Amino acid sequence: MLVRLIYTSRVTNNIEATVIKDILRVSEQNNMIDNVSGVLLFSSSYFLQLLEGPRRAVNRAYARILVDKRHEDACMIRYEPIVSRQFGQWRMGYIGEGIFNKEVLFKYTTDGKFDPYSMSPDSALDLLLELLQRSVQIKS
Ligand code: FAD
Repeated sequence: MLVRLIYTSRVTNNIEATVIKDILRVSEQNNMIDNVSGVLLFSSSYFLQLLEGPRRAVNRAYARILVDKRHEDACMIRYEPIVSRQFGQWRMGYIGEGIFNKEVLFKYTTDGKFDPYSMSPDSALDLLLELLQRSVQIKS
């Protein structure tokens, strides 16, 4: 069975670019082996990550992620069975700060400020979908 999980967390210390690179490298390797796909957003000291794939593999990945000291205060926003993947082409797509703009933030938040802890499950999913789409358009 396929499931989707979205959680948010806060970075523990001042983050360096190499930390994100390390996380993405390991995530891509592990997720490839485990048939997990998804996307990681990092902005304003928050992580917002979506994982989708076989239930046991997603649960195992989340269990590893929860004990990672590079972040804290993990909060699950959404967990559900899904019919099909929406991020199948990304072992771990990445959305960095640069992709945000006022228009997108205002669309998905109450006050135009990015605080994933206060987002609804649907807003978090739609935001990730829209931002990843924008990020692909910018790169191509
Ligand atoms: P090992 O590599 O054996 O490491 C042992 C412990 O050290 C683990 O607790 C690990 O978290 C920690 N650790 C490893 N490298 C570092 C480091 N450079 N600095 C500090 N601590 C470290 N992993 C995935 O497989 N898929 C994902 O999608 C994924 N997303 C992540 C998203 C975020 C925001 C973060 C912070 C981490 C993510 N990770 C992901 C990494 C995950 O937390 C584990 O580090 C990784 O899966 C390896 O797990 P392991 O049990 O083999 O740990």
